[in-house]
Amino acid sequence: MSEKFDVVVIGAGLGGLSSAATLAKNGLSVLLLDKHYKPGGYATSFVRGRFEFEVALHALSGLDLDRKRGYMYRMLEELGITKRVEFVKLSTLYKSVYPDFEFVMPAGRENIENVLFDTFPKESEGIKRFLDRISATNAVLTGLQRGGVTKEQIQEHFVKYQDKTLAEVLNADVKDVRARAILSQLTGYFGLPPSKVSYIIAASGLDTYFMYGGAQIRGTSHTLANAFVESITEFGGEVRLSNGAKKILTEEGRVTGVVTEKNEKIQTNYIVSNVNPFALCNLIGLDKMPESFLEKLRSKPIAIATVCVYLGLDVPYTELGLDEFEMFISSSYDFDRLYKMRSLEPTEIGLATYNLAYSEASPPGTTIVVLTTIANGDAWTKLNPAQYFETKTRVGDRILRIAEEKVPGLREHIEVVEVATPITNMRYTGNPEGTILGTPYTPDNILGKRLPQDGPFKGLYLAGAWTQVGGGYQTCLMSGNWAANKILSEFKRK
Ligand SMILES: Cc1cc2nc3c(=O)[nH]c(=O)nc-3n(C[C@H](O)[C@H](O)[C@H](O)COP(=O)(O)OP(=O)(O)OC[C@H]3O[C@@H](n4cnc5c(N)ncnc54)[C@H](O)[C@@H]3O)c2cc1C
Repeated sequence: MSEKFDVVVIGAGLGGLSSAATLAKNGLSVLLLDKHYKPGGYATSFVRGRFEFEVALHALSGLDLDRKRGYMYRMLEELGITKRVEFVKLSTLYKSVYPDFEFVMPAGRENIENVLFDTFPKESEGIKRFLDRISATNAVLTGLQRGGVTKEQIQEHFVKYQDKTLAEVLNADVKDVRARAILSQLTGYFGLPPSKVSYIIAASGLDTYFMYGGAQIRGTSHTLANAFVESITEFGGEVRLSNGAKKILTEEGRVTGVVTEKNEKIQTNYIVSNVNPFALCNLIGLDKMPESFLEKLRSKPIAIATVCVYLGLDVPYTELGLDEFEMFISSSYDFDRLYKMRSLEPTEIGLATYNLAYSEASPPGTTIVVLTTIANGDAWTKLNPAQYFETKTRVGDRILRIAEEKVPGLREHIEVVEVATPITNMRYTGNPEGTILGTPYTPDNILGKRLPQDGPFKGLYLAGAWTQVGGGYQTCLMSGNWAANKILSEFKRK
């Protein structure tokens, strides 16, 4: 074997990037490999005509940009990212648009209380109770990682709720269906409706967004991914793109090396896998995988995917009356009903206007709008090529029509349009069914119940959406950091 590294990281998605940066910063020799010619996985951009489109990010959580003290901010600062990337705080969290009611959710707990109490005076007590409840749960969850929480707090704010869904908790506190819908609007980010998503995950995610607001990246996620590559390189690590892993070598239950797509043989005792676990099995060889790992994998459903319509418009957003970065348009307050219809007949969309996050998101006088709906990737994988083309056109058109009802004239101003489906997601990242979250955030699949970060071979660790904590920018970045810390502890012990 010609080359040797302390650690090889396979996949330059967010989990792989944060892992490689953490390891390189701490002095280990690191090689990061990705199949694609660009780093980032979903966290990237693409160019059509004179527009550069953000592929994925709507709202980055956990930064606390006002105080620069959020867990995510400090981690990115440590890794040399904040000096390379400008994060832009979104002035509001979202605008909810229903057939008979509209509501703008501000950022910051006090602002949120004020506007919700004003709109739903009879529900004030219940809303406050709910907001306090999710804050207490989030504080315990954070405390579990950092220490400093008592057994009583864990019992009271965590254990009691670990099998509950968001709806079970929210509906006990809040009775008004409109208030419930507004408070659970972001469950789309967690890929499940309130009656299915884990309360613990929703509480932690919602509280983080409510407290700190969301953020965009000036220059798209591609800037973030590039910043990681620069940091990794500056710390002495190496990044090879357009060169995936072809094989993971193992001996007597331990990883020993990687063969790349360019047939380089790399010797290593440690691997962080940021590829989906099915691809990981193929890299190692199905016959070598322990049955317990395969069993766990088989037992878990696959989470949702997305369909996106990316629009480059030839007018400024002000001419179309767009006034909030993220607008959720729903045909009903019943998210469960909408979720059931998600497969190939979307009835709810998110409409994000990137120039409202930072004006130069597209050339002067133009606008970038991205329409997104969650989708059942499985239904898309069953289509033959002709059906796929027809469905992509029909669903794209339907999504556009939902947007047009609220933004008249939108279609006439399209200069560039691109539709991405679960199949597009699969093609670019290899994730089965084009899922963006790995496995779903149901109460029986959170935290320690997800795939562990310790892989099924000595020296093998997992990072990214499929493992703990789960899918999303903040969570994937955290998972890579944790996987790296596990390896660093082993090196320290030696
Ligand atoms: C449309 C859309 C909107 C989203 N919106 C948000 C949002 O607003 N907020 C949020 O927090 N999250 C959002 N997400 C989810 C978030 O983007 C993902 O959960 C996260 O980026 C997944 O990161 P990951 O670490 O799992 O890696 P992935 O992005 O899955 O990347 C895996 C990488 O592995 C590489 N790879 C695969 N096979 C190999 C191999 N054999 N060798 C080497 N490399 C390989 C792939 O090329 C890829 O780069 C969104 C996603 C999408 C698609």
